[in-house]
Amino acid sequence: MHPCAVPNIQVPLAQEGPDTMATIRASCYDCGDVELTTADVHVRVCTLDNQGTYSFRCPHCAMTVVKPAEARKDVIEEGAA
Ligand SMILES: [Zn+2]
Repeated sequence: MHPCAVPNIQVPLAQEGPDTMATIRASCYDCGDVELTTADVHVRVCTLDNQGTYSFRCPHCAMTVVKPAEARKDVIEEGAA
């Protein structure tokens, strides 16, 4: 066997999925503006009054922040027409 016949080890490339998650900017009570992905944010909307809240875990202080969501205004106005 050749002394230089070093086995060619193939390092598997880290298969990172396409980074298609949208970045969401939210504000932590302690840290101010933080950037999150859609996977970090959980939104809950009440079907009765369309009032929603979203919660996320701050990547800086790891605290769970819950805030009211106001993203349903358009829907409400359209429905009331
Ligand atoms: Zn924080």
